[in-house]
Amino acid sequence: MPETKTDTVQIALVTGASRGIGKAIAKALARSGRFVYLNFNSNQKKAAAVLEDIISNGGDGALLQFDVRSQEASEKAIEKIIKEKGKIDILVNNAGIRDDMLMVWMKKGNWQNVLDTNLTGFFNVTRLIVKNMLPKRFGRIINISSTSGQIGQAGQVNYSASKAGLIGATKALAREIAKRNITVNAVAPGFIETEMVDGLPLEELAKTIPAGRLGKPEEVAATVLFLCSKDAGYITGQVIGINGGIL
Ligand code: NAP
Repeated sequence: MPETKTDTVQIALVTGASRGIGKAIAKALARSGRFVYLNFNSNQKKAAAVLEDIISNGGDGALLQFDVRSQEASEKAIEKIIKEKGKIDILVNNAGIRDDMLMVWMKKGNWQNVLDTNLTGFFNVTRLIVKNMLPKRFGRIINISSTSGQIGQAGQVNYSASKAGLIGATKALAREIAKRNITVNAVAPGFIETEMVDGLPLEELAKTIPAGRLGKPEEVAATVLFLCSKDAGYITGQVIGINGGIL
C-alpha cells in the first residue's frame, strides 16, 4: 500500500478475529475502510477465510498470529505492525475463552488459563499500543467484557473475575489517557450466537432473555464500530451492555 494511503487509512488490530464476535468486528471495521490486522491463536484456516472475505468485499487487512497469553509474542507482533504501518489507531481486545465449572472443582490451571487469556492478554497487547498512541494523540480501545463480569455467573468464577477485571482496567486506563484523545471503553455482551455458547441449552437460555433470543455477533460489532468513530470521541471509561435486556 502506498505510504500516502497508509497515512490516512486507520489501522486496526482485532484479537481473536478468526471466529465469532471478533470476525464480525474485523469485517465491520474493514467495510468502513480500515486496514485490519486479524489476530488468531491456532485457527489459521478460519482466520484466512475471514481475510479472504474482507478482501473479496473490497477491504484490506493482514493475518497476525500470536497468543495473547504471551507478552513476548504479543509485543513482537505489535512491533511488526508499527514497523509496517507506523501506528495503530484502533485496538479491539476480543480474544477470550471460557472454562466453566463450579469453583469447588476448579483447578489452579482452569483459573490461570482463563485469567491469562482474558485479562493478562489485555495487558500484553495494550501496553505497547498505548505507548504508540500517546504521541499521536488519537486512539480507540475497545475491550470485550461480558454480562458475567457485571453480575457474576455461577460456574464462571474464573471467567466472571477476568471480565470484571477487564472493566476495572478499562475505567482506570480511560482516566490515564483521556487527555490525549484516546478513548477506552468496554462492551459487555450477553449470550451471543458463536462457538463459545456451543453446548449450552440455548432454547432454555433464550426464555430467560427479555428479547427472547440470543444476540448476533454483528449486533456487537455495530456498537464497537460506533465506539471507534470520531462521533464517539467524548465516550470513555464506559461499559455498554449488549444483552437483550438481561441486565
Ligand atoms: P469464540 O467464537 O470462541 O472465538 C474466540 C476467539 O478468540 C477466536 O478467534 C480464538 O482464536 C481467539 N483466542 C482464544 N484464545 C486466544 C489466545 N490465547 N490468543 C489469541 N487469540 C485467542 O468466542 P466469541 O464468542 O466470539 O467471543 C469473543 C469475545 O467475546 C470473548 O472475549 C468472549 O469472552 C466475549 N463474549 C462472548 C459472549 C458470547 O456469548 N459468545 C458473551 C460475552 C462475551 P482461534 O480461532 O485461533 O482459537
